[in-house]
Amino acid sequence: MNALHASERQSQVVRALQAHLPAHALIWNAEDTTPYECDGLTAYRQRPLAVALPETEAQVAAVLKTCHALGVPVVARGAGTGLSGGAMPNAVGVTLSLAKFNSILKIDPVGRTAVVQCGVRNLAISEAAAPFNLYYAPDPSSQIACTIGGNVAENSGGVHCLKYGLTLHNVLRVRGFTAEGEAIEFGSEALDCAGLDLLALVVGSEGMLAVTTEVTVKLVPKPRLARCIMASFDDVRKAGDAVAAVIAAGIIPAGLEMMDKPMTAAVEDFVRAGYDLEAEAILLCESDGTPEEVEEEIGRMSAVLRDCGATALSVSRDEDERLKFWSGRKNAFPASGRISPDYMCLDSTIPRKRLADILLAIQQMEKKYNLRCCNVFHAGDGNLHPLVLFDANDPDELHRCELFGADILETSVAMGGTVSGEHGVGVEKLNSMCVQFTAEENEQMFGVKRAFDPAGLLNPGKAIPTLQRCAEYGREVVRGGRVAHPDLPRF
Ligand SMILES: Cc1cc2nc3c(=O)[nH]c(=O)nc-3n(C[C@H](O)[C@H](O)[C@H](O)COP(=O)(O)OP(=O)(O)OC[C@H]3O[C@@H](n4cnc5c(N)ncnc54)[C@H](O)[C@@H]3O)c2cc1C
Repeated sequence: MNALHASERQSQVVRALQAHLPAHALIWNAEDTTPYECDGLTAYRQRPLAVALPETEAQVAAVLKTCHALGVPVVARGAGTGLSGGAMPNAVGVTLSLAKFNSILKIDPVGRTAVVQCGVRNLAISEAAAPFNLYYAPDPSSQIACTIGGNVAENSGGVHCLKYGLTLHNVLRVRGFTAEGEAIEFGSEALDCAGLDLLALVVGSEGMLAVTTEVTVKLVPKPRLARCIMASFDDVRKAGDAVAAVIAAGIIPAGLEMMDKPMTAAVEDFVRAGYDLEAEAILLCESDGTPEEVEEEIGRMSAVLRDCGATALSVSRDEDERLKFWSGRKNAFPASGRISPDYMCLDSTIPRKRLADILLAIQQMEKKYNLRCCNVFHAGDGNLHPLVLFDANDPDELHRCELFGADILETSVAMGGTVSGEHGVGVEKLNSMCVQFTAEENEQMFGVKRAFDPAGLLNPGKAIPTLQRCAEYGREVVRGGRVAHPDLPRF
């Protein structure tokens, strides 16, 4: 679209939306929309035509109806903490910010549920449930900021998801609007719902099937006690094998996380969590429940970890010490931000027994692409979070970082894993989706999208690669010069 045409289109869209929104709920000047130009994947940026900030469901419906009538793409946005570019705006589209949907509508301590608006922060649900000794279990490290609407769209996970499940397992009902602006509901507040249960379809659909406005979540009782083991290993293979051994022993820890030496060094310098800086890898293994259950499980886990070659074990003695152990893990991303101008956080999964193999492969890739990488991950789930460190102001470093990232994702697939664990595909992993899925499988996913959004206006260009993209990527791979994001805007 040329500049004149683009500005005419912007005026047309703004005029149409002004009929439905108060003046303060619509912005379109570049200086106002720039804060919305990316999410947590900051390497890619794009300003939208306009940003709508509705305050009522009627306004959400009106924005969607208006955009549908004009054929304008709509990208829903929560807190913008996504790491895969899912909320990156569409250049000819409207960003629909749900930030003002931030009310907790009901806490039901008897039914152990909460009804919340989509813009409520993840942690705010647990804070509101705390007086009833309840909490919302899925705990992304971004929980202080990310919204439940974003969590639903990404099927977000966290440390506790090994034992308590992902967002999908903790959500009962999702209410929202289709691309045409019609109300739609998935799931129910009962244990099951009548007809086809499409809840699992909308959870993890990356804002491509519907816009969520309200969510009913399950709450779980706060455990009476939680204790955490910090175990050091002098070899990443021993640490990886220990993770598989804990699960093989029939134990489901409340959290089982791993960090490699570069990561512990970065974190320790930042939060002083007391990590063993000599260790090649450390594991954090948590147990929760009644004091008797915790004592028994900590004993069993300690025995397995020692058998697997742990060089040191410390068990948290009180709540302060447990939180100190976790403070390092929870601050891993900001700690990486202190040692590098930029980082790209990957998110593939692999079978637990291949943890050491992928870590060793990543060490080789650091040499191949001449970039550093720190590793922190939900080891119990086999969900990796390699943080590739780079400088986005250097186009060559950005390019090498993209190649490094694609290599990690595709090596994970070759090891029997998947390209995404909990951060979604967004724009980041589109090419690697071509490696994991056949053209037919990707087409089936488009079929589901078309059933909800025939005009293809909700978050287009995300999550599912087109046939053409896969063909182009295939040719690049054959030529050996992979371009991870051929058609994305660059700095
Ligand atoms: C420091 C840091 C740590 C993180 N740790 C974790 C972690 O441990 N586990 C984890 O899973 N993720 C983690 N993330 C990623 C991110 O926080 C999650 O993906 C989160 O769910 C995104 O929520 P958000 O509100 O910021 O959504 P956004 O980034 O605004 O949007 C994410 C996607 O959801 C869609 N969306 C948002 N709201 C709606 C809605 N109401 N209706 C329809 N679609 C919507 C958007 O279109 C987009 O596709 C982390 C991110 C950061 C920056």
